[in-house]
Amino acid sequence: MTSIEVLVIGAGVSGLTTAILLAESGLRVAVRTRELPRDTHSSAAGAIWGPFLATHQHLSKWSLETLAALRVLAGDPDTGVKLLDGLEAARGTEPVSGPEPPEWITQLDGTPCPPGQLPKGFAYGWRFIAPVANMPAYLDYLTGRLAKAGADLTLGTVTSLADAVREAPVVVNCTGLGARELAGDDEVVPVRGQLVIVENPGIDRFFGEHASDFGEPTYFLPHGDHVVLGGTAEHGRADVGHDHRAAGAIVDRCAAVEPALRHARVLSHRVGIRPSRSSVRVEHVPVHGRSVIHNYGHGGSGFSLSWGCAREVVRMVHAVA
Ligand SMILES: Cc1cc2nc3c(=O)[nH]c(=O)nc-3n(C[C@H](O)[C@H](O)[C@H](O)COP(=O)(O)OP(=O)(O)OC[C@H]3O[C@@H](n4cnc5c(N)ncnc54)[C@H](O)[C@@H]3O)c2cc1C
Repeated sequence: MTSIEVLVIGAGVSGLTTAILLAESGLRVAVRTRELPRDTHSSAAGAIWGPFLATHQHLSKWSLETLAALRVLAGDPDTGVKLLDGLEAARGTEPVSGPEPPEWITQLDGTPCPPGQLPKGFAYGWRFIAPVANMPAYLDYLTGRLAKAGADLTLGTVTSLADAVREAPVVVNCTGLGARELAGDDEVVPVRGQLVIVENPGIDRFFGEHASDFGEPTYFLPHGDHVVLGGTAEHGRADVGHDHRAAGAIVDRCAAVEPALRHARVLSHRVGIRPSRSSVRVEHVPVHGRSVIHNYGHGGSGFSLSWGCAREVVRMVHAVA
């Protein structure tokens, strides 16, 4: 058997995307993961492109690179990614014209929403078209593309980075919340997110509440036959059982914006944990004369940063390989 050049740990959206670009750049890559892609926290995400609970000086660069990549993927229905029209709106007493949009909405060519089109209780907002992913389908696409690029994915838990570097000269750590243990990084903090999946009563546009309090983000994202209703952002909580009261509150908040959701049949509940950190960690660290490159701590923006961070890792790997 030919020895591998890079071992990627983790098969969420960060690990799969990174492993794909590494393998497609000509390197011999293997992926080791504790859970299959559909069982990772990434699978629970909504998911829409945009910054949420993540910081880094290169955030804008990485998110724009990802935006460009997702726009290309949206051209292929098999990827699970599509471009969707929708609205982000804020409550409050701002003038009808509203304040200037945040930079990321400008990047999506957002335009002010005419006041007559705002949901009840909202003062201003912007319409724009953003990439969204049906995450289970998107992870299936990424897994298939990884296999086509010639990389093996195997189930297993890596217990130390020192052990991992014995298997390959370069190890890329994409373990999300798992980095707390694997990299001994207490800065990674769980932020629990809960969603309700309902049958689509005919909604074809997304909605997101523009708010400064991130505890209970209200949003819904239609994905063909179903709609993802959000959500929660509970700092320090990492349990993954769903909470009936929180689910009821999510439905109530979404139905207040879009009454058609009030009696939509609940299909399932999703809970995932965002790997929050003071700053996303994309960094090279030597371990026993070999290389570990970290790529974790993307908070609520792992989908939105995935291709940009993966490219950064590819540049780092080729610099040390
Ligand atoms: C409810 C919810 C909604 C979200 N919505 C959005 C959104 O709209 N847009 C957006 O951009 N982001 C969103 N996010 C955030 C996004 O999902 C995360 O940032 C992203 O999933 C992080 O991906 P990851 O691959 O780094 O981590 P994970 O998906 O957690 O994957 C970690 C991987 O590492 C593996 N692993 C961990 N430890 C070990 C070990 N010791 N050995 C081997 N394998 C290990 C796991 O098995 C897994 O494969 C949302 C998250 C949640 C929970």
